[in-house]
Amino acid sequence: MSLIELKVPDIGNYQNVDIIAVEIKTGDTIAVDDTLITLETDKATMDVPAEIAGVVKEVRVKVGDKISEGGVIAVIEAAAATAKAAAPASETAPVAASQAATYSGSSDAEYDVVVLGGGPGGYSAAFAAADEGLKVAVVERYATLGGVCLNVGCIPSKALLHNAAVIDEVKELKANGIEYPAPKIDIDQLRSYKEKVVARMTGGLAGMAKTRKVDIIRGNGRYIDPHHIEVKLTSGEGKTETGEKVTLAFKNTIIAAGSRVVNLPFIPEDPRIVDSTGALALKSVPEKMLIIGGGIIGLEMGTVYSTLGARLDVVEMMGGLMLGADRDMVRIWQKKNEHRFDNIMLNTKTTAVEAREDGIYVTFEGDKAPAEPQRYDLVLVAAGRAPNGKLIGAENAGVEVTDRGFINVDKQMRTNVPHIYAIGDIVGQPMLAHKAVHEGHVAAENCAGHQAYFDARVIPGVAYTNPEVAWAGITEDQAKKDGVKITKAVFPWAASGRAVANGCSEGATKLIFDADSGLIIGGAIVGSSAGDMIGEICLAIEMGCDADDIGRTIHPHPTLGESIGMAAEVAMGTCTDLPPQRKK
Ligand code: FAD
Repeated sequence: MSLIELKVPDIGNYQNVDIIAVEIKTGDTIAVDDTLITLETDKATMDVPAEIAGVVKEVRVKVGDKISEGGVIAVIEAAAATAKAAAPASETAPVAASQAATYSGSSDAEYDVVVLGGGPGGYSAAFAAADEGLKVAVVERYATLGGVCLNVGCIPSKALLHNAAVIDEVKELKANGIEYPAPKIDIDQLRSYKEKVVARMTGGLAGMAKTRKVDIIRGNGRYIDPHHIEVKLTSGEGKTETGEKVTLAFKNTIIAAGSRVVNLPFIPEDPRIVDSTGALALKSVPEKMLIIGGGIIGLEMGTVYSTLGARLDVVEMMGGLMLGADRDMVRIWQKKNEHRFDNIMLNTKTTAVEAREDGIYVTFEGDKAPAEPQRYDLVLVAAGRAPNGKLIGAENAGVEVTDRGFINVDKQMRTNVPHIYAIGDIVGQPMLAHKAVHEGHVAAENCAGHQAYFDARVIPGVAYTNPEVAWAGITEDQAKKDGVKITKAVFPWAASGRAVANGCSEGATKLIFDADSGLIIGGAIVGSSAGDMIGEICLAIEMGCDADDIGRTIHPHPTLGESIGMAAEVAMGTCTDLPPQRKK
């Protein structure tokens, strides 16, 4: 047995990142991939997993410390041979390849650009490259383009959330004297509606690929050297290989292979335990449902199931739901959603899951853990997503992959190999479709010989719950943590005629300004259509606006969007829709 220091791996360009949770203590026995600590940057929280199994001899960090790549988290006693022992075979490949492979065989086709992955990042990059006049192929293992977002993510979830929101809104009409009978839900038809929405969108992409003469090569792609990719062809609905393969040669390639659901090792296989894809399949509505993970994906799916009739419990290791958004905004959402939950278990861990005939029994440990295991009809595991960087033969192309499977890129989206680009979930947080699309456009422009850079000031985040919660730029909580001097202005929707008329007066719009320059650096909205409105705040930040620019822009009345102008007036001290404020 030997003593080994567990260190922070490559975490992108972040330095001195806050440690917001320490999950281990001296004497603990840890397995590979157990979470050691959780870090929080201005963009996201990330767990740092154990690379090696063993017994913790010393913990060198505490909550509130700041740490960077290489910082020592703990010392463990381990046999060196245990390192990565629990990882799947495909993940044991070298993570940072210094030497690429050489392929000297023939190729079946040659392209200016081969894009690996047909998700929002991949298809956007491919279409943009084709629009530049380049010869382009997309390698995608599934039958349709669109990736996670269109097939099992953003779009199907919003199709279901839309129906749930209408049901909720109709119920609220009772207070205005309009009463409908309880909805009769035909779950098969609802599922088929969702599937039609997906098919319409993915079908549209197939058409656009054809119009642009982008070749879609259906199969599992794996790089075999810096200029070739081998594709094992697939067919059918899934990714079943046919036994045939083709080799494509490329001048440039864009890696857009996305991410996959993180599976918790102690959770058994059972049809009553699902990930987000399983939840979207909407097979039935359970009476009692547990959501493991209080992030956006879990809460969105919980909203759907609860509106359809399920009672919800949620368990979250951290101290709050929807981390990343300001607590004052989340509190407004939480108050309106209290009725959905029997038990919100914060600072609580799931320690065991047992599938029995009469239900799934789950044991918890932590602040809000019930003493006895709890029984559920459905358990949704929404504990995060992992990048696919270690599954694509990147090492053969000479592309470096971090311990966790991310691929680092520069602002032009180039990897360490200049003609190989990477975009989307595989390059880091936040894992969001709109980030992937913009990065894809930058990569495509560079493939075409332009000098393009991904230099967005903000990437908005939205929870499409009811009400929606949206935010962009720095949050108030983050500003406090980082010691950034800010001024904030909040416009409560109780003072908005439109919000009151629409029955959504609980909402709020907040703008955050740099205290020295007066420029807007952040903002958040909670309320109906918050996700649609946050774009204005993003634009204001990108354009370097101050409160005067936003407040003097004439917003149409009466709209919910007007609340952004009003919040800017609050910042200026000129809002006449609120009691008098001190003039700033
Ligand atoms: P992906 O969408 O993951 O696409 C990667 C593609 O590459 C896949 O099609 C995959 O099959 C293919 N691929 C991977 N490896 C190979 C290989 N070796 N060979 C061939 N093909 C391969 N984001 C938002 O912005 N808004 C939302 O509302 C939102 N809602 C979400 C809801 C859910 C339930 C989930 C799970 C995610 C949601 N997201 C949302 C996140 C969003 O889906 C992702 O950020 C986005 O899809 C990432 O795009 P991408 O192109 O990087 O990768």
